[in-house]
Amino acid sequence: MSYLKNNDIEAMIIDLDNTIAPWDSDQVAEPDRQWLDALQSAGIRIMIVSNNKEKRVEQFAAGLGLPYIFSAAKPFKRSFLKAVELLGAQRQRTVVVGDQIFTDVLGGNSLGLHTVLVEPMASKEFAGTKVLRAMERFVLKKITMTEGFDDE
Ligand SMILES: [Mg+2]
Repeated sequence: MSYLKNNDIEAMIIDLDNTIAPWDSDQVAEPDRQWLDALQSAGIRIMIVSNNKEKRVEQFAAGLGLPYIFSAAKPFKRSFLKAVELLGAQRQRTVVVGDQIFTDVLGGNSLGLHTVLVEPMASKEFAGTKVLRAMERFVLKKITMTEGFDDE
């Protein structure tokens, strides 16, 4: 929470799969539900932005009472920009939270949004996700060696 206060964050773009729910689950765990409620009580406006299909994204969004964008095609810019606009937020006061470097973090960074990479909460994963994950580890290693992203 203090990260959000320190950076004057007013809006959050949150990923769905493996960020607030494992991809093979249709439930948001109670602690995460409470976390999202607490953020909203603190005045943070939240939108789910997911590359997944409408049926799944809508179901979670309805359960959480949050607006959403499905088939978002992250890391491309369009859905991030649409979310920022719909949230009525300033880019420098918006944070993207997700579990994937390529889609969530690089996509958000390319627009000057704050980004937070979370540990994926997956239990079982698609093979494709594993491959992507391996690439992410490689990138992470490179980032560590070159001392991180350009940090404003
Ligand atoms: Mg994800």
